[in-house]
Amino acid sequence: MPPTTIPVKSRHVAVVGAGAAGLVAARELRRDGHSVVVFESGNEVGGTWVYTPHVEPDPLGLDPKRPIVHSSLYSSLRTNLPREVMGFMDFPFVTRPDESRDPRRFPGHREVLLYLKDFAREFGVEEMVRFDTEVVKVRISESGKWNVQSKKTTCFSNENEHKSKVEFDDEIYDAVVVCNGHYTEPRIAEIPGINSWPGKQMHSHNYRTPEPFRDQVVILIGSSSSAVDICREVATVAKEVHVASRSVADETYTKQPGYDNLWLHSMIDNARDDGTVVFRNGKLVLADVIMHCTGYKYHFPFLDTKGIVTVDDNRLGPLYKHVFPPALTPYLSFIGIPWKIVPFPLFEFQSKWVAGVLSGRITLPSQKEMMEDINSFYSMLEAAGIPKRYTHCIGESQFEYNNWIAAQCGCQGVEKWRKPMYSAASVNRRLRPETYRDEWEDHDVVLEAYEDFVEHTS
Ligand code: FAD
Repeated sequence: MPPTTIPVKSRHVAVVGAGAAGLVAARELRRDGHSVVVFESGNEVGGTWVYTPHVEPDPLGLDPKRPIVHSSLYSSLRTNLPREVMGFMDFPFVTRPDESRDPRRFPGHREVLLYLKDFAREFGVEEMVRFDTEVVKVRISESGKWNVQSKKTTCFSNENEHKSKVEFDDEIYDAVVVCNGHYTEPRIAEIPGINSWPGKQMHSHNYRTPEPFRDQVVILIGSSSSAVDICREVATVAKEVHVASRSVADETYTKQPGYDNLWLHSMIDNARDDGTVVFRNGKLVLADVIMHCTGYKYHFPFLDTKGIVTVDDNRLGPLYKHVFPPALTPYLSFIGIPWKIVPFPLFEFQSKWVAGVLSGRITLPSQKEMMEDINSFYSMLEAAGIPKRYTHCIGESQFEYNNWIAAQCGCQGVEKWRKPMYSAASVNRRLRPETYRDEWEDHDVVLEAYEDFVEHTS
């Protein structure tokens, strides 16, 4: 639907989270004339990209009462996407002329954090953020507005002691935009017999460095970018590393080229109380550790929608185009739910859409039409045999999705070079998992991107 010419409304909006999604949401909301408060439980912006060596006390992340460590980054992590593709549309992620910065095309995690901090500074986002303030409850109030309860923790320390003060706040907002990220709550593989298996289990959320695995026999489950990185890193110190993947044939058993202690197997069949693990290919391994690199769950412990929005087998719904729950539209929205995507630009498009809808510049279809759209999307997934948990995996269709949102907003869509660069990086990553971050062939597309960046960097 094209933007309308009706007078715009200014709303009081709470944004939950100051990661990449919350930062761009705050910028777009303010650009559209809304008053914005961003709640951030940490003490700096950047979300996932704020690396910490700390891990959670429950290595599998099953205890709902455990103290939460938000970031899942490991120390050696370099991006799995080229920086040109990763950046926001109007704030390119280019190399900075500063020796302390990482100039590589696939930089280390610190460079991404510094980029997000540059973004926050450039657009004055930090002044909207309440740090060390966790949103503990979001619910619809009697007036039909949103009640946001938050908890601010202030720490004091002197030579002798550390103290903290906790203050609770209860406020009313017209709208809430949820940007709390979805790489913190581990998903675990189900393994028959695991309860009597005597070894150690953990999730990659709590992996930081390879050293604890020296001389150990490690089984790693998964085949995502993180799994590909971690298994190779662990293999530099471990006695043996065995990767179990559900995306290979049952008979698979191959040694990874270039390694004498790294094997690829089909999925685990069962684990036994004598410490052995049996794979579907029939191999038996006596292992010390099983590391689940099996992804994460959507998790909104603070959100009370009286059952209107639920998470079922990692499907968050019902959501119109992964953003708006029809019955609560437009006063509740979610930024950053899709996965297998280029996150920052997608967040930017979604944020423009939410800001424009809240101000009344952009009209959504009726509740009934949105529900029909969601139901036909679910039917399409079912007919194609796509499991529920893949509802928000949009992969290749992300560019079409972004352009569709851009058309709703009446703004420019995805640049011509972004999709071919993303595709080239994906192919390169698959073909050269060891070296894709330092060797590539899409030089012409890189040039095209930099020609585009001139508009925003000069
Ligand atoms: P987050 O960055 O997780 O931010 C959410 C914020 O919300 C956090 O600051 C958190 O403290 C805050 N928060 C949560 N709950 C509350 C609450 N109740 N109250 C207040 N604050 C709260 N993307 C790429 O583009 N390139 C890559 O190479 C890449 N590699 C990745 C590698 C790993 C291991 C992981 C886990 C992710 C990677 N990503 C990558 C994806 C990355 O998650 C996104 O780039 C992006 O940072 C997600 O931003 P977000 O704002 O949605 O969530």
